Amino acid sequence: MRIAAIEITARGVVQGVGFRPFVHRLASRCGLAGWVENTPGSVVIHIEGDAAALSRFRALFGSEIPPAARVTRLSVRKAASTGVPGFTIRASRRDGIALSTIPPDIATCPECAGELSDPSDRRHRYPFTNCTNCGPRFTIVTSLPYDRERTSMASFPMCAACRKEYGDPDDRRFHAEPNACPACGPRLYVRDGDGAPVETDDPIGTAAAAILGGAIVAVRGLGGFQLAVDATNDGAVRALRTRKRREEKPFAVMFRDVASVRSAVYLAAADESILRSPRAPVLLAPARARSPLAPSVSSGLPTAGVLLPYTPMHRMLLDRVDRPLVMTSGNATDEPIAIGNDEAISRLRGIADLFLLHDREVVQRSDDSVVRRVGRGIYPVRRARGFVPAPVTLLRSFPDVVGLGGELKNTFCFVKGDAAYLSQHIGDLEQAPVHDFYEETYRFFLRFLGARPRAACHDLHPAYFTTAFAERAGADRLFALQHHKAHIYSALAETGFSGKAVGVAFDGTGYGEDGAIWGGEFFAIDGIEVRRAGHLAYFPLPGGDAAVREPWRTALSLLRATLGAAEAESAARELFPGIPGTSVRRVLEALEKKINVIPTSSAGRLFDAVSAICGLCVRSSYEGQAPMLLEGVAARAVAGTYPFTLAEEGGQLTIDWSELLRGTVADARGRLPAKVISRRFHDTLAAATVAAAARLAESAGARHVVLSGGVFQNVTLLSRVLSGLRKRKLTPLIHRQVPANDGGISLGQAYYAAAQVAGG
Ligand code: ZN
Ligand code: ZN
Ligand code: FE
Repeated sequence: MRIAAIEITARGVVQGVGFRPFVHRLASRCGLAGWVENTPGSVVIHIEGDAAALSRFRALFGSEIPPAARVTRLSVRKAASTGVPGFTIRASRRDGIALSTIPPDIATCPECAGELSDPSDRRHRYPFTNCTNCGPRFTIVTSLPYDRERTSMASFPMCAACRKEYGDPDDRRFHAEPNACPACGPRLYVRDGDGAPVETDDPIGTAAAAILGGAIVAVRGLGGFQLAVDATNDGAVRALRTRKRREEKPFAVMFRDVASVRSAVYLAAADESILRSPRAPVLLAPARARSPLAPSVSSGLPTAGVLLPYTPMHRMLLDRVDRPLVMTSGNATDEPIAIGNDEAISRLRGIADLFLLHDREVVQRSDDSVVRRVGRGIYPVRRARGFVPAPVTLLRSFPDVVGLGGELKNTFCFVKGDAAYLSQHIGDLEQAPVHDFYEETYRFFLRFLGARPRAACHDLHPAYFTTAFAERAGADRLFALQHHKAHIYSALAETGFSGKAVGVAFDGTGYGEDGAIWGGEFFAIDGIEVRRAGHLAYFPLPGGDAAVREPWRTALSLLRATLGAAEAESAARELFPGIPGTSVRRVLEALEKKINVIPTSSAGRLFDAVSAICGLCVRSSYEGQAPMLLEGVAARAVAGTYPFTLAEEGGQLTIDWSELLRGTVADARGRLPAKVISRRFHDTLAAATVAAAARLAESAGARHVVLSGGVFQNVTLLSRVLSGLRKRKLTPLIHRQVPANDGGISLGQAYYAAAQVAGG
């Protein structure tokens, strides 16, 4: 028999996910000897035996990998055989262990779910059941290396039965750090709305009964508190809106199983696997017209955010109520999610009627992640639980740097080696309570990555929190990077693309290099160089933030620019009957005298304006509402588009929107339905985008087009642009790992800084 040996190195999410036991089982089954061990950031497997067994191992390896593992890089090389007897799991090499060894939290696996509902199992109905394939990870970590002693499970000494499982390489709970059972693990209990104890031997049943009675129940989940409400009870959902001060922004809804999800939204096969995946994100899916969900859940939007239970506790709760539940972050609007029991009771008093608590501390605050599906893959919207801290793998290694992120939907990002670690979604830094969350999390990442950032990169905006924070980031050098360039760099970082390309960043707001508000930008990309090459033609934005909250103001400015002041005033009277004539005249006057008026090329604001012109959203109650309503009504197919022109202006290609505006206004005044105008608008903007990108690609000799920015969260626009580009034989590159919105720009900032530092 010929003995051969190989060494396999697997990188990615390979630790704390049952990887070593899996290798052990597979090697033993194939009759191979050797060992497996964790090293910083990778798992190394040495196997030896006869050649046929080795190839059998390699064939099975790919198809039997644990569900929560994600191998981003696999290398195999020949090794010298050592003659070791049998296969062993070696103790971890602890030196230099980094944050990279902590996996993201993992949704309950099928085996644990089975035990949960098996009356003969010792974990029957135990709400903290987990194993090496599932359970809490990142959210319970207090320090490193990742093992039980350094998690919030440290205060729960394992019973003899659990310890036996933990020590047995053939057991599914071998080295499952949060391993627990009813005898030794965390437990649930209930408090009333004032925080007073509620006597019950069935906490889940008590919470379920309250929810069915229309109450708002605060539930301590994985990454913090959630507010749970019967999603079929319109009165209860409205009460939640009032108490949480959240007027119309849609709520995510948790369903018992996929079949019940289908009662509310349309799901393709790919959607189902996203929902069932170990990351178990909220998926934005098209809502059914007839649905069990109360109308106030998504307030007029034709999509709904749906998810499946991802902890045993959530499963048990959903089984008991047997109806969909609104599951929204446990906070008042604009504050970070609450994590501590006392903190939650004090902050959520007056919002929650009942508290379902447990005694396992949540260490890392982490909201639910949100994704859309584009093609067969995910398209992230908010990246937190289940995603963080798994890194984005870069094309090569770089010196340590950090990107501090933007102001809204903030994340930050450390680059270390070839890995880019994004923080969980931090939130909107316009809100002071979010600053502490940012600073705490920043320090955690800095410490546990062992990062010594040689450079920090912040947004060009002088007044952002992160711009001021940059001085305290602990870096040697500071870079300021324009917002939309950061969007483009983030897409370059995650796709690993290097070469000539055209970049399109369509977005709400970003401080421009010329002091204007950018947001409809085209770039010429050459390797790591990104240069502005075109934009939507500028228009005057009256009153800055007021325009964002009241899209009719932006619309009025565009009407004035297209039709003249007098005609704009009469159009406004027709299109915005709810807006007093004096307000209209005041805005027109400000535009005339250029008082508090800033030029903008923002695509987001153009969407706002058209949404207002269609009568869909004259005033906006949350960020992105006007564009989302506009996308929501778009008919599937409508004949005709509006005209547009491309122009050359000071070396920049500009998209002139005036004909487009004239067309929408004529259709709106002609009482055409919003669904027709919206469709034509989307089709026109997509056509203009493709035409501009194609022209720039041709002159640069590029074949790729990179799409980023929050406006590309609009999949109606995105899918038209994608098909348009492909028709022109151009290859689109889109986000798959980080959001196209501002949640992704920290990656772009970090990538830019890394390239600058590496380049000298
Ligand atoms: Zn499990
Ligand atoms: Zn136990
Ligand atoms: Fe942005």
